[in-house]
Amino acid sequence: MLVDKGQGSRELKLESISVDVVVVGGGLSGVSAALAAARSGASVVLVQDRPVLGGNASSEVRLWVLGATSHMGNNNRWAREGGILDEILIENLYRNREGNPLILDTILLEKVYAEDNIRLLLNTCVHEVQMEDEQQVGSVMAFCSQNQTRYSLQGAQFVDASGDGILGFLAGAAFRMGAESREEFGEPFAPSSEYGELLGHSIYFYTKDAGVPVRYHAPSFALQDITTIPRFRSFNAKDHGCKLWWIEYGGRLDTIHDSERIKWELWRIVYGVWHHIKNSGQFPEAETLTLEWVGTIPGKRESRRFEGDYMLRQQDVVEQRVHEDVVAFGGWSIDLHPGDGVYSPLPGCNQWHSKGIYGIPYRCLYSRNISNLFMAGRLISASHVAFGSTRVMATGSAVGQAVGTAAAICVREGLMPRDLLDASRMSRLQQSLLQSGVFLPGVRRNDKDDISASARLQASSSLTFTGFPQDGDWQVLDCSVAQMVPVHAGRFPGVTFELQTSADTDLTVQWRMSDRPDNQTPEIILHEQAFSLKAGVCQLFFECNLTLQDDRYLYLVLLRNESVSVPISNMRVSGILSLYNHINVAVSNYGRQSPPEGIGFDAFEFWCPRRRPGGRNLAITLNNGVPVFGSENLRNGVDRPHVMPNAWVADPEDPSPFIRLEWDEPQLIGSIELCFDNDFDHPLESVLMGHPEDRMPFCVHDLTVSDDRGNAIACLRDNHETVRYIHLTEPVETRTLTIALSHPSADVPAALFAVRCFKP
Ligand SMILES: Cc1cc2nc3c(=O)[nH]c(=O)nc-3n(C[C@H](O)[C@H](O)[C@H](O)COP(=O)(O)OP(=O)(O)OC[C@H]3O[C@@H](n4cnc5c(N)ncnc54)[C@H](O)[C@@H]3O)c2cc1C
Repeated sequence: MLVDKGQGSRELKLESISVDVVVVGGGLSGVSAALAAARSGASVVLVQDRPVLGGNASSEVRLWVLGATSHMGNNNRWAREGGILDEILIENLYRNREGNPLILDTILLEKVYAEDNIRLLLNTCVHEVQMEDEQQVGSVMAFCSQNQTRYSLQGAQFVDASGDGILGFLAGAAFRMGAESREEFGEPFAPSSEYGELLGHSIYFYTKDAGVPVRYHAPSFALQDITTIPRFRSFNAKDHGCKLWWIEYGGRLDTIHDSERIKWELWRIVYGVWHHIKNSGQFPEAETLTLEWVGTIPGKRESRRFEGDYMLRQQDVVEQRVHEDVVAFGGWSIDLHPGDGVYSPLPGCNQWHSKGIYGIPYRCLYSRNISNLFMAGRLISASHVAFGSTRVMATGSAVGQAVGTAAAICVREGLMPRDLLDASRMSRLQQSLLQSGVFLPGVRRNDKDDISASARLQASSSLTFTGFPQDGDWQVLDCSVAQMVPVHAGRFPGVTFELQTSADTDLTVQWRMSDRPDNQTPEIILHEQAFSLKAGVCQLFFECNLTLQDDRYLYLVLLRNESVSVPISNMRVSGILSLYNHINVAVSNYGRQSPPEGIGFDAFEFWCPRRRPGGRNLAITLNNGVPVFGSENLRNGVDRPHVMPNAWVADPEDPSPFIRLEWDEPQLIGSIELCFDNDFDHPLESVLMGHPEDRMPFCVHDLTVSDDRGNAIACLRDNHETVRYIHLTEPVETRTLTIALSHPSADVPAALFAVRCFKP
């Protein structure tokens, strides 16, 4: 028993922790930074002031994680972020296809808990910084009210992933808050102060059907007059969660120091909106609905942005400018909001897309004046306009992974963040990121120690793409449709397909391509033909005499004609999609982007896939098959479709697909890396929005690796992950490695992006 007589002074317990990397903030960017640093061999402390991880993605706020795929509503194909973010979202899909935010919490906690190199401090708030000297952080102080303990956290490198930038602020790092003028970076989209210079906070609510009538008495502080919200007619009894992202407030206030005030106003609005839905009499369908959950922590969008050696700007995003030091990519639209938020008569957001993804340079990820301070998440070095795109969580996670990996390299080699700008060090950082599953536009993976490079590759079969069988339904051409066709340089293939017409009509068919081979905005019409069709079923042959200069995707476009139906195939193949010139208002896609003059965005059409279980390919036949799925793709250094499919795909008729690597001399093999197709086109929204499947239809589930004596040395069963590293318990000496895999389903042939082998 402890008896304290109340004599003498008392002090809180103080624990001193010394690590290589201190990460402040446990949102997705901080989690990714901590995981990346720890997996790269650094000891890490991750400090999060709330009870769970995830920041705005956690069950406390409940935002769905999004990034370059933009709900599949823009032209960024196969643009889901790889690496840690992919690992999290694929696991979330597998365990939680319904999108329950509590399950995502557990996945993030599990990932961090599983790393021996991470000490996680939850409910622990960083509030003080001690500097080693004027330019270098020495330690941070944090406090956990749950265990009444103060922590002194010393590190060599520090990562500020706290959203509001508590660490950078206290350390004296240069920062900004509010919007730049148009002149500063020559950004035509820079907003006026009349529109608003800061994005506000939001609070969400969830509802559920109790099955019996439920009364609702609003708290006295609830908003009484719903008409003070100019768009109040948009409320309905159905929408909840992040669909109501536009319940936003605080963009005219100090989004840090006025945060509690903003939260109260948001509570006032949320309870007022619910009062309106339950008690105005306008929503009889709400009679049995009850509030299930209301956020207690506002989701914060914007506050401080810190200055790095470079500030990303609108032109980098729109023109997809190339940076030698690219370490992450973005692709969400530039998405700014009116400062008055929900009280503004203006639309809740002003979103403009680029034609493709853009690279994020490393120079945006460390402070320009504090030598050992990295930044991750929404506070990176970007102008207010560019921040409108980089701020989303999947992009924040990609940035976090880059920062964590860089911090570990700095620790290992006794360097400071800026030192990694040296070309050979930058190349090592980029290669480390690629090795952990990240995709970087314009950078190929090149493992010097991958011994698969010296092997002869043999495949049981490789699909020569001749089109898709006509084994599905007919689909009315109520919207223009494009079938992507990957082709090598040379003559265009001729295409045959059937059509059903309900009346005599004219149909326009086109070949299109994208201006840049690495984009999927099919803006260039290469050849067009109008066909006069008689009512009934007919067969069309579409050809042209053009030749292509480079390998790339072509788009076979059938323009909208509601008298025509096109045949659909049930077959799906890695790296091929059908696209629709349709509308997705959730991301300001109205079929065509037509920006007003002078705001610095391109006009172009949107061509996007439909979500599964829809989104099937058109049944077409190519007169000359295109051999784009050969086994040489397995070692081309690109592990997702980009410019070309980059996948080895087996022939669907192959009863026992396999890949064999054969060397002249026996090799000692310690580990094998396999990259599967987990459909990087799918955004995998993490909460609220359910998905029709719990694993990606292209992902190989079962696989056996055998040595030259036919001994199975490794097996994967029921796989759902994107990258599998097989570490053999005993190294194996063998002249051949045979990887036998099963087709994922009768409609999807087996595919792999990469096989890599390493000595022990
Ligand atoms: C309403 C709303 C809608 C949005 N819509 C989307 C969307 O649909 N999809 C999308 O991807 N993004 C969306 N965003 C943007 C996105 O949520 C944020 O930009 C993103 O969360 C930023 O990530 P982060 O890791 O920098 O910050 P956060 O997610 O905020 O994480 C920072 C973490 O640091 C912690 N922290 C702060 N201070 C301290 C301290 N002193 N000590 C310790 N820990 C601290 C915080 O508790 C928090 O958990 C939206 C934002 C809002 C508010």
